[in-house]
Amino acid sequence: MDLNNARDRLNALKVEIEEMSKNSSSGRQAVVLDQQSVGRLSRMDAMQQQAMAQAQERNRAATLVRIDQAFKLMAQGEYGYCLSCGDEIVERRLEIDPTATHCVACKGG
Ligand SMILES: [Zn+2]
Repeated sequence: MDLNNARDRLNALKVEIEEMSKNSSSGRQAVVLDQQSVGRLSRMDAMQQQAMAQAQERNRAATLVRIDQAFKLMAQGEYGYCLSCGDEIVERRLEIDPTATHCVACKGG
């Protein structure tokens, strides 16, 4: 596992997520403001959109936590090893998800 490469990818992912959060937080505010003036149907649409935006925001927050955890594991020299069984996490898996903390066997995929 190339740690520098993984660190770069985690940093890039973090920046990307923070950008998306910034963009969508103004979107969420707009939805709230519009609710007074729109009809019932579009209000439901707006609420659905808001719920979706909130779910996405939660996902992003969870990913940021995982990224920070990955950085912590790197600092401890334990990045790339399964937190359950201690086996090395295959590189292919870390390529797909650089925040993975469990091997395929322990995570089930
Ligand atoms: Zn494992």
